[in-house]
Amino acid sequence: QERTLALIKPDGIPYMGKIIEAICCSGLIIKQLRMCKLSRGQAKDFYKAHMDKPFFEELANHMSSGPCVAMELVAEDAIAKWRLLLGPTSTEVARMKAPSSIRANFGTDSTRNAVHGADSYDSARREAHFFFADRMFA
Ligand code: ATP
Repeated sequence: QERTLALIKPDGIPYMGKIIEAICCSGLIIKQLRMCKLSRGQAKDFYKAHMDKPFFEELANHMSSGPCVAMELVAEDAIAKWRLLLGPTSTEVARMKAPSSIRANFGTDSTRNAVHGADSYDSARREAHFFFADRMFA
């Protein structure tokens, strides 16, 4: 069984019921769940790998604009399973290439794309620690 970190971004919060339903229907198990509002500094820290990107400020503003829901998900191949379910980064691309994905259904544009998913074992560990600290991988 593998674990990953999923995040419903502020723009996805109005659809959190449907997003959680999609997670549960796909065989991913929600091990931990927490709703919280990130400060701008915390949002920058979470996405620090992108600090040199032109969209970094916009991303930090969006991620701190309202509450997020963080979830630790468990399943066989959880990282790949969740990345597949969420779809491509750009909502427009998601609508063309993965019309049943969460981003195709609930995203708005490239920044406001409803959800996030860790892309590797190392980022899953770091991000689970970010939101769940000592209860990580309990
Ligand atoms: P995430 O890491 O959130 O799951 P991702 O791995 O699909 O998304 P990344 O390339 O890691 O995409 O980008 C992180 C986030 O930065 C994206 O989810 C999106 O909110 C924002 N972003 C990425 N590319 C762009 C872009 N070209 N323009 C605006 N925002 C972007």
